[in-house]
Amino acid sequence: MMTDPLVARALAEARPVVFWLDRPEHPEPAPPLSADLEADLVVVGGGFTGLWTAVTAAEADPGRSIVVLEADTVAFGASGRNGGFCDASLTHGLENGIAHWPDEIDTLIRLGNENLHGLLDVVARHSIDCSPEPTGALDVAVAPWQTESLAKSAVVHEAHGRHVTLLDAAATRAEVDSPTYLGGLWHHDGVVMLDPARLAWGLLRVAKSLGVRFFENTPARSIEAVQGTESTTVRIRTDGGSVGARNAVVATNAFRPQVRRIRRFVVPVYDHVLVTEPLTGNRLATIGWSNRQGLSDVGSQFHYYRLTPDDRILWGGWDALYHFGNRVDPTVEHSPSTSRLLATHFFETFPQLEGVAFTHRWSGPIGTTSRFTCAWGTSHRGRVAWSAGYTGLGVGASRFGARVALDLVDGQETERTGLEMVRRSPFPFPPEPLRWPAIQLTRRAIQRSDRRGGRRGPWLTMLDRFGIGFDS
Ligand SMILES: Cc1cc2nc3c(=O)[nH]c(=O)nc-3n(C[C@H](O)[C@H](O)[C@H](O)COP(=O)(O)OP(=O)(O)OC[C@H]3O[C@@H](n4cnc5c(N)ncnc54)[C@H](O)[C@@H]3O)c2cc1C
Repeated sequence: MMTDPLVARALAEARPVVFWLDRPEHPEPAPPLSADLEADLVVVGGGFTGLWTAVTAAEADPGRSIVVLEADTVAFGASGRNGGFCDASLTHGLENGIAHWPDEIDTLIRLGNENLHGLLDVVARHSIDCSPEPTGALDVAVAPWQTESLAKSAVVHEAHGRHVTLLDAAATRAEVDSPTYLGGLWHHDGVVMLDPARLAWGLLRVAKSLGVRFFENTPARSIEAVQGTESTTVRIRTDGGSVGARNAVVATNAFRPQVRRIRRFVVPVYDHVLVTEPLTGNRLATIGWSNRQGLSDVGSQFHYYRLTPDDRILWGGWDALYHFGNRVDPTVEHSPSTSRLLATHFFETFPQLEGVAFTHRWSGPIGTTSRFTCAWGTSHRGRVAWSAGYTGLGVGASRFGARVALDLVDGQETERTGLEMVRRSPFPFPPEPLRWPAIQLTRRAIQRSDRRGGRRGPWLTMLDRFGIGFDS
């Protein structure tokens, strides 16, 4: 066990800055909106959901005039702050998908595969330099009960056509060497590691080249339906001007939404991340990791970690912090105790990396639903659609979410809109003041369950029965 002074030294120079966004190639922000404009489609939010909405709509109909309003700068939210695990799953993992939609799981798997291929096709066609690495992922067991759950998971994945290999402790350590590993499940397909900020900036470039107009540092303040003589339109007001449009897509995910209904279904959960300095070849050799998979341990509270393109380790997860009243604001972003806990776990996992320093620490709001997957809806007489709540797996799924939102707002019935996953809303979270205690109770029950060999206990069993939960 690492002592505090060593953890403190490792964190001493860690800047509270997002590693992915801390680059000289960060694009210059577009000027804020300062006039009243008209468009065909207005998108609120410049993360992956908003960017995919804009790119998809512009590619499908080059004549459509599209405006994106972003409160800060493109990729400021979760899209610029995540681990960069780009997963084919639309359902926050296969088991969660089977639990909620057993009858349509094979369709969801196919649509998820098509979505990942479609995403990579856009990356290749437009030469987006987001370093996609088709490494797959390695789930590791760090407690005896987790080896059993990996064995069960292997059977389920194989039954649904996924290419997986169950590894014992020695084989897992031959891939990535940690004394904490007791077994592993290597998912060879369906997961690509990428650089999320460069993906977002690449999509920004593509969208602009297709004629999409961006206004950054432009928070949308209100959305109104405007009844005309022949049809309804929407008008989105900002501090410096407004945009009138036939349709709008709201892509604000975990942030305070202008469509109130989203708050019933989506809670913002802060997830924390550390990034090390680049590892030298010798250092990296002490852990192996030559196949560069994305790693996660498999408790209910878990870490996810990966190598960055320049051989740093990005190490995140564990605590999922909810702040009263769905609070999302920079003042809650930094939690020194969470950074210390993460660093302690890091050195417990890789004691051979003692002496490695962290250079960056940050957190970001994950939009979580009670079913751990995206939710959709319409408002303002069908003129506005929204897509939010991918929980911790939205890098890939946000492209699918954007396509569903476009189908909805364009009034198109497609295979996507026919899905039960799309038609049914998740179980709503209770409003405050009940939301906060309910989430804290669930967090404590999750921690207890991990300590007791995965036994769920009465509260989690009751939530499981209703198909609801809380996750990051
Ligand atoms: C720390 C962390 C790690 C993660 N790791 C992974 C991972 O490895 N793999 C994975 O698949 N997923 C991961 N996720 C989740 C993933 O990042 C998200 O699901 C995804 O980025 C959501 O994209 P989005 O566009 O819907 O939301 P966001 O990227 O949050 O974008 C919402 C945007 O809306 C803007 N906005 C808010 N309010 C307004 C307003 N009123 N007007 C205008 N604009 C507004 C915000 O500024 C923001 O830019 C992680 C998330 C976090 C926070």
